[in-house]
Amino acid sequence: MHINDAVFLEDLCPKFRLRQWRKSIHRFTGKSCIYCGKPSESIDHVLPRSQGGLSTTENCVPACLSCNGDKSDENALYWYRKQKFYDPRRAMAIRAWLEGDLRLAIRLLQWANPNFKLNQNYEKDESEYKAA
Ligand SMILES: [Zn+2]
Repeated sequence: MHINDAVFLEDLCPKFRLRQWRKSIHRFTGKSCIYCGKPSESIDHVLPRSQGGLSTTENCVPACLSCNGDKSDENALYWYRKQKFYDPRRAMAIRAWLEGDLRLAIRLLQWANPNFKLNQNYEKDESEYKAA
């Protein structure tokens, strides 16, 4: 598809644009919940829509259904601090996200994500050794 056609299609069909936007939000965190790291199945409005929260990237984070439902209309950072899976690096990431600094948010999330450590060479060397 030509790039101009894509823009045209998005303008013509807001639903298509919404879907692309939701996809891109999940992609930022590798489809994991910003709060607990489980697979993100929904988009959470950090400031709830009932309190005037907008559907902008700064106010919308990928979240699993459990976190999204549990948090409900509470202040996200206040709610997050009370959770068993609380991680200060994730709290910083959420704050960076809300400030629109997605690059910093993603870097902090990678730091907080235990799976990220599995990509170290140590693991790779070991599996190669076993295969040999
Ligand atoms: Zn979660």
